Amino acid sequence: MSQAKFVIEHLEPELGKWSMIEYKHISKFLGKDRLWVTNVKNLSGQEELKEYATVITEPTVDLKLKNVCVLDPEGTEVLTPEDAKSIDYYLFGGILGGYPPRKRTEKELTKFLPKDYVVRHLGPMQMPTDSAVYTVNEIHNGKKFEDIPFFDKPEHKINQYEIVQIPMRYVNVNGKPLISAELLDHWSKSDDSDQRFGLY
Ligand code: SAM
Repeated sequence: MSQAKFVIEHLEPELGKWSMIEYKHISKFLGKDRLWVTNVKNLSGQEELKEYATVITEPTVDLKLKNVCVLDPEGTEVLTPEDAKSIDYYLFGGILGGYPPRKRTEKELTKFLPKDYVVRHLGPMQMPTDSAVYTVNEIHNGKKFEDIPFFDKPEHKINQYEIVQIPMRYVNVNGKPLISAELLDHWSKSDDSDQRFGLY
């Protein structure tokens, strides 16, 4: 089994707190060596990100990579372990999950990629980037998509008065949605609920 790299093309105008927390979380379960973050140019926070990932200024297309699979919810086929045998790089959009989804991966990433990149989806619901990366790593290691357990639109208790339903799919790891402790802490401290859940 090859050690594929996981490339996230950062597509938000800033390297905000939420994106940074997700990238750090991915680095924790995947390992720093397998995580590249591209398209990071003159962004506040990029020095900190270098502690967790290989940070690259150029957009991914300029790296002229071969055997690339882009994960796009608008893809027509689901990623399979069979596909994974010939993939060296998995490419994700570094995009926060707005609701309803606006097909930003297709409009801001896939559309500009070479035709020899494979395009695959991970089911009909959008996941945050860290759950998407975790799912792809499971498939790369031989698991079928349909055998991976998920939580759809889990509820999150903010405090004794407030429970919100998060409009995304999360991978189920040991009976819990894969959400980093740091993100839960960030949510509990943020006072704008729309921004807190990316619903803008
Ligand atoms: N709302 C965004 C859109 O409209 O494309 C989705 C962004 S999602 C939060 C971040 C990244 O995770 C996507 O760019 C994609 O690479 C990956 N992703 C999340 N859910 C996916 C799915 N169901 N199928 C394929 N890729 C997915």
